[in-house]
Amino acid sequence: MSFTLPDLPYAFDALEPRIDARTMEIHHGKHHAGYVKKLNAAVEGTNWAELPVADVCARIDEVPAELRTAVRNNGGGHFNHSLFWTIMGPKGGGEPKGDLAAALKKHFDSFDGFKKRFTEAATGRFGSGWAWLIAVNGGDLAVTSTKNQDNPLMTGLDDFEGKNGTPLLGLDVWEHAYYLKYQNRRPDYIEAWWSLVDWDAVARRFADAESLVSA
Ligand code: MN
Repeated sequence: MSFTLPDLPYAFDALEPRIDARTMEIHHGKHHAGYVKKLNAAVEGTNWAELPVADVCARIDEVPAELRTAVRNNGGGHFNHSLFWTIMGPKGGGEPKGDLAAALKKHFDSFDGFKKRFTEAATGRFGSGWAWLIAVNGGDLAVTSTKNQDNPLMTGLDDFEGKNGTPLLGLDVWEHAYYLKYQNRRPDYIEAWWSLVDWDAVARRFADAESLVSA
């Protein structure tokens, strides 16, 4: 068994004009594909090749030291991008409903309060990385950010800067995610990205995170 590149759930040009088709082609077909290929090369012949990538991330501190950096970078890259494609869509935008909306209001005072906090995490991440909305202990929410291809599932890393939890929403702020269209204007990319967020997909992830804790 090995890790595979998931198909995009929409066409390369489906997120136009906010994210251009060429960026999506390169991002999915070169960057994400590269993480999958390098992850497979790193774990070939080990038991790590048999686990879901989320489990590999969550157990990164158990990965043998000689493999750990490659698995961290490429396993993180595979998990993060697999999530990223599914929380965006051509019919995205607006605001969440139901339990997720109530939880965001509880933790950030309002949806706008959450949006502001998340936008600060995304614009403030120096260099390459991700901004995250995470579920901590099931129903509690937090915003955090990680460098490179790290993610909040990764525990036990000496230099992990983020807060641990289950990723519900992630935003890629590597330049490869926006440079062709936005060049150095990361804030413009982030602003445009909000109208692509598929809140139903995020709400499903939240419901799953809650059920893990109450089970
Ligand atoms: Mn990326």
